[in-house]
Amino acid sequence: NRVNNPYTGAKVYVNPEWSEKAAAEAGGSRIANQPTGVWLDRTAAINGVNGGMSLRDHLDEALRQKGSGELVIQLVIYNLPGRDCAALASNGELGPTEIDKYKTQYIDPIKAILGDSKYASLRIVTTVEIDSLPNLVTNVTPRATATPNCDVMKANGNYVKGVGYALNKLGDVPNVYNYVDAGHHGWLGWDDNFGASADMFKQAATAEGATVADVHGFIANTANYSALKEDNFSISDNVAGKSVRESKWVDWNRYTDELSYAQALRNQLVSIGFDSGIGMLIDTSRNGWGGANRPTGPGATTNVDTYVDGGRYDRRIHLGNWCNQSGAGLGERPQASPAAGIDAYVWMKPPGESDGSSKAIDNDEGKGFDRMCDPTYTGNPRNNNHMSGALPDAPVSGHWFSAQFQELMKNAYPPL
Ligand code: BGC
Repeated sequence: NRVNNPYTGAKVYVNPEWSEKAAAEAGGSRIANQPTGVWLDRTAAINGVNGGMSLRDHLDEALRQKGSGELVIQLVIYNLPGRDCAALASNGELGPTEIDKYKTQYIDPIKAILGDSKYASLRIVTTVEIDSLPNLVTNVTPRATATPNCDVMKANGNYVKGVGYALNKLGDVPNVYNYVDAGHHGWLGWDDNFGASADMFKQAATAEGATVADVHGFIANTANYSALKEDNFSISDNVAGKSVRESKWVDWNRYTDELSYAQALRNQLVSIGFDSGIGMLIDTSRNGWGGANRPTGPGATTNVDTYVDGGRYDRRIHLGNWCNQSGAGLGERPQASPAAGIDAYVWMKPPGESDGSSKAIDNDEGKGFDRMCDPTYTGNPRNNNHMSGALPDAPVSGHWFSAQFQELMKNAYPPL
């Protein structure tokens, strides 16, 4: 019997492996006891990579942390065929056609473990396939942002099939709570993308035997940097005769931040047939934007650009930048029921784990080199040809990146 919001009245699992790395950093003990997501980012992660904890090890430790109360453990399902089709930093082990391997070697074994009655007392949150489905809307022909790999994944249907299969199988486990990835406002907040993405989520949630009842909610902003709430301007403001939507930063988006986006998307999803009880998660692991450069009030009302640029907390060079952002900070600490329609703020992407390498680095994980992680890169159509804003000297995605961890602590908001 699922509860409406699994985070209510529950502790959230602290991943000992992440916690140890965080605690080993200068100042890291201030956050080392925070819950973060456990990423099953390749088949081998089920049994543990390089002597690390297996999925069962995590679940056993979760039972221990739980004690006699309630506990949520947060898992990230992240191994689709042709993964990360619009970028290279998180390409994975499965080629575009390997949907059967995804089903039988990845999802089925995970389901078998989660379904073990030993773990029936845990509330298992599964966030399903970060940064996948929105690509099929925004990064396909005839868009200027199209990539050949996203065209392939749209045509072969394997993202939709994979997500549907995962939702169906994992949704059969009564104490699993599936949350589907919902991008972030700086990706899907435009009229061309918003409704079409919701429809795409519905298509996947009704593929391969899944139904909307397999979906407990959605997660926004995973591993991204979009601010939670921009207090210094709102979408309905006008300055010098123009709407803030006409500013270069907002650029006709309907939303200025993740909270307004997540709440509106929830309504849209309910309106097309998802359960009226669905809840949203927002990843606040790197969207704090505090530190010395945080504006203390609205920008000058000279024009919409001075107004928005002077007031916005999000200090990115462009909203489309996504890799190891310079100036970023930890956002709100993980917490349950922070706002209407929001089940929790979470740190799904563990702070300190790289978004991608700044230069090509050999690896056996399938990870490519995406120049959006290179601080000297001048951009592409997906960030409207701006500088990447990335920190230098980053290791491949998922690997520990001390400088990023320190940057996130330094610019935390609320401050540490
Ligand atoms: C990487 C994964 C990693 C995850 C969490 C992703 O960008 O591709 O390998 O587990 O981030 O750090």
